[in-house]
Amino acid sequence: MIHRTLHGFVEVVCGSMFSGKTEELLRRIKRAQIARQKVQVFKPVIDNRYSVDHVQSHDANRVASRPVEKARDILKFVDDNTRVVGIDEAQFFDDTVVDVAQKLAYRGIRVIVAGLDMDFRGQPFGPMPKLLAIAEEVTKLSAVCVICGNPASRSQKIAGATGTDASRIVVGAREMYEARCRFCHEPDLSGQSQEG
Ligand code: ADP
Ligand code: MG
Ligand code: ZN
Repeated sequence: MIHRTLHGFVEVVCGSMFSGKTEELLRRIKRAQIARQKVQVFKPVIDNRYSVDHVQSHDANRVASRPVEKARDILKFVDDNTRVVGIDEAQFFDDTVVDVAQKLAYRGIRVIVAGLDMDFRGQPFGPMPKLLAIAEEVTKLSAVCVICGNPASRSQKIAGATGTDASRIVVGAREMYEARCRFCHEPDLSGQSQEG
């Protein structure tokens, strides 16, 4: 049964590291709070680089958030009167997060999802392609390429603290990555070239 009077939908904010995804998520969350809508923000427990209970951008803007182990947990924690749900670092969840976003939207909730669209090799990251496909609205942000100054769409791994580790983006080590455009990005060198 479709509830035609409800207005749930999914918005995705994607882009490379440093593109301002978290800033944009926080901006939307704050405006919802100004409109006196109850907001809840979630992030995967893996993202503990600044604080375990806040979502924080580089300019130290922050909003309380709840770390969850699995995307499915979000459904357990969303209160009945919540109107807006934010999910940051969505790329670290598995595909279940797609189903979770859909369920919330069908319940009438505005779901704002932020995440990396590509890993440091320039490949689609986790559930993000599916989230982009099912979203009503998609915003793709760019950073500034640290090499040439053009808009940056990719995250370059510049130091391989974990060496041959195949893990895609090591959280808590933003200094290991920089924003680069398509032409300055070197996917094959990621994690090996500038070690030591
Ligand atoms: P994201 O969540 O996408 O990683 P944040 O919202 O945390 O990004 O941070 C975005 C901020 O990062 C920018 O407003 C800017 O102050 C800073 N920043 C640092 N390096 C860059 C870069 N190369 N390009 C753009 N912004 C950068
Ligand atoms: Mg972020
Ligand atoms: Zn460049």
